[in-house]
Amino acid sequence: MKQLALIPNKTISKKEIKMLEDYWAIEENNRIEIFVLTNNEFLKKYIDTGYFSNLRNIEILAIYQVEECNVCLNSFNIVINDRAHLESYSQSKNKCCRVCGHFQSSIENSKQ
Ligand SMILES: [Zn+2]
Repeated sequence: MKQLALIPNKTISKKEIKMLEDYWAIEENNRIEIFVLTNNEFLKKYIDTGYFSNLRNIEILAIYQVEECNVCLNSFNIVINDRAHLESYSQSKNKCCRVCGHFQSSIENSKQ
C-alpha cells in the first residue's frame, strides 16, 4: 500500500503538517510496512508542543493506493482514518475495490 495524499479538513500550520506527516510515516521492514515512530515515540516528540492538542481538532484523510483488488486485480484507492485502521487494513487478506466490494455478492449470485 502506498500513501498518495494526506488531506486535512482545514488549513493547518506547517508545524502541524510536519506532525501529521510523522504520525503517518511508514517504512518497509522485510516487506512489512511499519510506522517510523511508534505511538509512544510520537507522543514523546510532540506532547510538549503547543500544537499537539490541535491534533484532536484536525480530521485528516489519508488516501492510500492498494496494488491489487482481490477480485478484479486492478489497483484502487482507499481512505484511511487513523493508524489502527491502516494497520488492520494492511494486514487484511480481503482487499476489495469499492465496486467489487459492493457488487461481489451479486456478481457471484449471477454466475450460478
Ligand atoms: Zn475490484
